[in-house]
Amino acid sequence: MDYASFARERRAAILERVSQAAAVSGRTADDVLLVAVSKTVGIEEVAAAHAAGYTAFAENRPQELKRKQSAAQDFPELADVRWDMIGHLQTNKVKDVVGSVSLIHSVDTLHLAEAIDARAAKLGVTVPILLEVNVAGEESKSGFSPAEALAQIGSVLELANVSVEGLMGMAPAHDPGAARRAFSDLRELRDLLSHETGCHLGELSCGMSDDFAIAIEEGSTIIRLGRTVFDPAYALQ
Ligand SMILES: *Cc1c(COP(=O)(O)O)cnc(C)c1O
Repeated sequence: MDYASFARERRAAILERVSQAAAVSGRTADDVLLVAVSKTVGIEEVAAAHAAGYTAFAENRPQELKRKQSAAQDFPELADVRWDMIGHLQTNKVKDVVGSVSLIHSVDTLHLAEAIDARAAKLGVTVPILLEVNVAGEESKSGFSPAEALAQIGSVLELANVSVEGLMGMAPAHDPGAARRAFSDLRELRDLLSHETGCHLGELSCGMSDDFAIAIEEGSTIIRLGRTVFDPAYALQ
């Protein structure tokens, strides 16, 4: 099968899973944004995924984001795609990202939020962000602890040039039960923070190739899919 056909057929299969999972939480596939994580592929694969129907792409490193966005200029059909930042962001790289992405999922400290705000103010823009929460308390992962999120969200909300849209999280790998708990904990924290701040936090960015169906069942509004979109050797879960 050629890559374009793979991309089309895989997207159809993913959308069917998304619909089934959305129905479990009383929603439809239209309630879930599929973000294609292109960090392991080149611009040709991005163009194939776009032709298959994806309009939102994401990178986890600022340098690769820049490289992809510049390569995309040779593909007129990619002019309107949305790019998101989903990986750990150092404050000295903020200037490379603010102004060129639609959403920064991975805001993991107040200090980073302040740096984004300062850059956004300089450019005269407002940057939509998510607070990344290390909801399962894994040593290897970055993010606010739930307690830090609760204590610090007020300070983030005071920043005039960032707009907090919701939370982002990752589940422990290879453990569907633990993943479900992590996603439902993230949703409950989102609801608590909305209630405490009186600020509508609509978005929940959670769910990757291995666990997106569980995440959607638990209320995810944005799933970040890498391997299942781009890798023909990866079996759809
Ligand atoms: C790579 C990556 C993904 C996609 O992972 P897959 O398991 O390939 O779907 C999602 N989120 C983040 C933050 C990533 O770095």
